[in-house]
Amino acid sequence: MPALTEKHRQRYDRQFRLGDIGEAGQRKLLGSSVLVIGLGGLGCPAAIYLTAAGVGRIVINDFDTVELSNLTRQIGYGTEQVRQSKVDSMRDHLLHLNPDANVESVGHVMEADELQRRVAEADVVVDCTDNFSTRFAINAACLAAGTPWVSAAAIRFEAQLTTYHPRDAQSPCYRCLYPEGTEAAESCLAEGVLGPLVGTAGCVQAIETLKLLLGIGRSLVGRLLLFDAMQMSWHEIRLKRDPGCPACGDSPQAATS
Ligand SMILES: [Zn+2]
Repeated sequence: MPALTEKHRQRYDRQFRLGDIGEAGQRKLLGSSVLVIGLGGLGCPAAIYLTAAGVGRIVINDFDTVELSNLTRQIGYGTEQVRQSKVDSMRDHLLHLNPDANVESVGHVMEADELQRRVAEADVVVDCTDNFSTRFAINAACLAAGTPWVSAAAIRFEAQLTTYHPRDAQSPCYRCLYPEGTEAAESCLAEGVLGPLVGTAGCVQAIETLKLLLGIGRSLVGRLLLFDAMQMSWHEIRLKRDPGCPACGDSPQAATS
């Protein structure tokens, strides 16, 4: 773990004053690595807060360019970034915020091999994507590498969040909950989404990721956290592992896949 410099002490003062973090926790964060997949309304606040908190290495992945219609919620970009690459814009933003951070940008859709390698190199993966097929790919890579991942989705005035942890025997995987080939029935493009709602979900992902990196608190493993902004209410439902899951279960198919 890296030693804290005087600048670190100033920058992270309010954070390592927290008894559950302390200097040891801050040094742990500085030595940690996170992969953020998707730099939209979830990925912007998640990547920004994780970088601000001093996570030492952040790998950011998105293949898209910024559009004017993104700016209600994708708070890492300004009007002058419209039509520019999201990863390049975000990398500039993160290094401006925290020049100590080691930020690597991946501006293409990762094939299975690269995804597997990058997931294995990360301590936590933050799923800020908006589609099922990418989540199935992340699930497979995280199961193979044993890397925990924090997933969120938001639409209209509603958000949901959970954490999958392949090294926790109680944790379901994504495939336990959704059959392969599931397609989104609705999208933010068609249905709309409130900016601060999706930002809230991205911030909760950042909190959850910091806790996993630090090894503190109770995680969202086995719980789906639901936020209804219209009712301004939070509730949760239990998620159970499926022993017959073809991806993580005890079936012969699981052992060979
Ligand atoms: Zn499973």
